[in-house]
Amino acid sequence: PVDRSPEMQEARLKLPILAEEQVVMEAINENPIVIICGETGSGKTTQVPQFLYEAGYASPGGAIGITEPRRVAAVSMSQRVAKEMNLSHRVVSYQIRYEGNVTDETQIKFMTDGVLLKEIQKDFLLSKYRVIIIDEAHERSMYTDILIGLLSRIVPLRHKKGLPLKLIIMSATLRVEDFTDNTRLFSAKPPVIQVDARQFPVTVHFNKKTPLDDYSGECFRKVCKIHRMLPAGGILVFLTGQAEVHSLCRRLRKAFPYQKNNTAGNATETSDLKLQFYHTLPKIDLNNYSVVPVDEGDEDRDFDSDDDAAGSDLDLDLGDGDSEEDEKSDSSLPLYVLPLYSLLAPEKQEKVFRAPPPGTRLCVVATNVAETSLTIPGIKYVVDCGKVKQRFYDRITGVSSFRVTWISQASANQRAGRAGRTEPGHCYRLYSSAVFMDFEKFSAPEITKRPVEDLILQMKALNIEKVINFPFPTPPSTDALAAAEELLIALGALKEPPQQLAAKLSCPISALGRVMATFPVAPRYAKMLALSRQHNCLPYTITIVSAMTVRELFEELDRPAVSEEEAAQLKRKRVRFSQMQKVWAGQGPMQKLGDLMVMLGAVGACEYAGCTPKFCEENGLRYKAMLEVRRLRGQLTTAVNSVCTDAGLYVDPKMKPPTEAQVTFLRQIVLAGLGDHVARRVQAEELLDDKWKNAYKTALLEDPVFIHPSSVLFRELPEFVVYQEIVETTKLYMKGVSAVEPE
Ligand code: ADP
Ligand code: MG
Repeated sequence: PVDRSPEMQEARLKLPILAEEQVVMEAINENPIVIICGETGSGKTTQVPQFLYEAGYASPGGAIGITEPRRVAAVSMSQRVAKEMNLSHRVVSYQIRYEGNVTDETQIKFMTDGVLLKEIQKDFLLSKYRVIIIDEAHERSMYTDILIGLLSRIVPLRHKKGLPLKLIIMSATLRVEDFTDNTRLFSAKPPVIQVDARQFPVTVHFNKKTPLDDYSGECFRKVCKIHRMLPAGGILVFLTGQAEVHSLCRRLRKAFPYQKNNTAGNATETSDLKLQFYHTLPKIDLNNYSVVPVDEGDEDRDFDSDDDAAGSDLDLDLGDGDSEEDEKSDSSLPLYVLPLYSLLAPEKQEKVFRAPPPGTRLCVVATNVAETSLTIPGIKYVVDCGKVKQRFYDRITGVSSFRVTWISQASANQRAGRAGRTEPGHCYRLYSSAVFMDFEKFSAPEITKRPVEDLILQMKALNIEKVINFPFPTPPSTDALAAAEELLIALGALKEPPQQLAAKLSCPISALGRVMATFPVAPRYAKMLALSRQHNCLPYTITIVSAMTVRELFEELDRPAVSEEEAAQLKRKRVRFSQMQKVWAGQGPMQKLGDLMVMLGAVGACEYAGCTPKFCEENGLRYKAMLEVRRLRGQLTTAVNSVCTDAGLYVDPKMKPPTEAQVTFLRQIVLAGLGDHVARRVQAEELLDDKWKNAYKTALLEDPVFIHPSSVLFRELPEFVVYQEIVETTKLYMKGVSAVEPE
């Protein structure tokens, strides 16, 4: 019996899926596997777990598990369902990679797909669960795809054991043939229930012309027009990245101020720093910092080291339109402008669900998180730039770049659909119908687009040796599989095949590989952890690996400013940050560890100061990232302790800087993990072409690569370096660089 408040009950009754409760539950009772399709906002995520709970499917020992590809959704949906059901977070809980609130009483558990994959490693039959719901299957995230493949085998196994497990796959689109018509996956076609969306008509308006670059400016103009001329109703704008979102928000707030003030940011005075960690401040040259605009990508998949990433977008016009410099401010028409993207702090994300202040119109400026995972109430107008920012990988070299590309037709239609949830709406597409016709119909599954070494290691740890025979909904390319196996063999995680080609793609896991697979980080970093027992280096390696995994510890200070005041503030912060960077980089031989030493120093200093928002703000650190580093350090420390039971490690907030000997050893460890990421400075005699000036040569790439301007080694140019990754913007840039000695 669920004790919902009358208002909640009323709100639920409006959701299309409520009318289908009986159909849904009958299908689930009678079939082991059911697919539910329904428009975003029809109530799948929030209601299906409640149906199951009320039908008696949950108990503390046999929970309902729901996986989400995005962390934002896992956290926010568990909170929503707990509230709707009037149950405590002890019962309706969530688990994402860095945190969770699961208890022994938990009966409904939201988690990211990566978390469930890890659980399968510990308990292949998932005996804690009676139902698994794979949500947002249409997103085709890599871990979701793998889970569906694994569950297609686990469900029959559980049936044989007499402990049946129900599998429910939920999707926002009707395109589910990759699941239903794949007989290797499901020999009997599972039933598909379609929830008729109570969707109001949305009128789609195409632009006559497609703006070449300045889609941000075009968004701005469109929102202004809507706000000035059209009846009440929320506006939802789709842009591609965090920096764009912020810059449009600022511009709109300026044009239609709500309240008298529009500067909430309290400029921080550089206060006295109690820096015990590295206390000497070197003299610095104030003109000596680089200005590189950096924009964040908007991925927030869990579990994967390569996510939540940021990339430089040197060539991306952020479009703070010069054409309308003298935008008139009109305070008679207040607009309540809110940003929404995955790296935004959760309490700020929650704001979009609340009603806007009386007398204002809501305008949410979002990345594609608002496309299907979160439904914002009261949206009547959608402004769609038609683009998305995605990380692209070269499957062989692993070089990644953020690119802004056209979305698929399916995505465009999803975005448009956001306008018709509560009444008829309008969608303004800032591109022509001809351009739309050229869009791909659907976006490709993630697994076909990125390196898969972490996935392959996880699968091998599940004793799936012949990865190629796995029932993938869509298999990765054999090139990508081969590259992954090769890297894992080089790292010692897989046993080398006895004869070359025959055994390719079916190497068994080694003992080292098993240890590596227990660490929730990329195989390269897992190798570093596995090597760090000597010289008491583990706490340092754990910290460095955590920092490299969380990524983007540092606030983006090179963003374009909208006001002079802001520009001055950013400049102050940049100066301050570049001082701190030098402090954290240490002295003498320590400096050779380069950017990794900076990460170590930053985390050390931040923890020493109690990891407060104030410390982060003052020193150019992202508070949310630092909290994640803290949690990951905790997790890795536990994981290491359980592998080597005599290590007795703990996370020391007053960690001392490493000694010189330790730094030397750390550099060797880093080299062991990143052995295929070595680059050599181009010799003078090779400088035939100017493009090789200050360049490095790597084993895999023909083209010159460069140390990123944000690196502490940018001016040092050591002869040999290892890098965390290469990111392509205007050039190929190495990030996370350390110097190595040729041996
Ligand atoms: P689906 O999974 O089918 O896309 P959801 O179950 O996510 O649909 O959403 C159903 C409804 O619940 C939507 O109208 C949405 O606005 C509302 N909702 C979801 N989360 C919240 C929240 N945190 N606060 C208020 N309303 C919410
Ligand atoms: Mg949903």
